[in-house]
Amino acid sequence: MPNRRCRADNSRGSSPEVRYVLYTGRVMSCLFCKIIDGSIPSTALFEDDICYAFADIHPQAPVHVLVVPREHIPSMADCNQDDTQLMGHLLWAATQIAQLRNLDGGYRVVVNTGEDGGQTVEHLHLHLLGGRLLTWPPG
Ligand code: 5GP
Ligand code: ZN
Repeated sequence: MPNRRCRADNSRGSSPEVRYVLYTGRVMSCLFCKIIDGSIPSTALFEDDICYAFADIHPQAPVHVLVVPREHIPSMADCNQDDTQLMGHLLWAATQIAQLRNLDGGYRVVVNTGEDGGQTVEHLHLHLLGGRLLTWPPG
């Protein structure tokens, strides 16, 4: 899968990292890319050809699932108009997981973006939180 977001293309020529990104759409040094390719174990909850969803390692609610695109996109701020279908798909996947986990009383979807948004892993992801009463506003 060619990856148009590989900004290292020009600066790093045909390094193994760049070739890997261009070939797979993943980044070798990225934690969530490693989870997607199975080199770091995770508890799978949903997957299809576009996304992979797995349990958060530090759950903040009885249900805390991360939904990630298989393609490496650093954050929501890196999405553009070409990504509207992908972004919609990730939200749809969250609704499917919510149904599977019986979150009939409601749930919350969060996309931390950038430093001020509290994003710690630079691979776009949705948090699906539920199974308890969630307070507002967040911190
Ligand atoms: P962020 O802070 O970027 O919005 O969310 C990153 C999330 O990834 C955090 O909730 C954190 O607990 C989770 N996380 C970090 N490392 C791992 C890991 O190795 N495995 C899993 N399953 N979740 C992780
Ligand atoms: Zn990644």
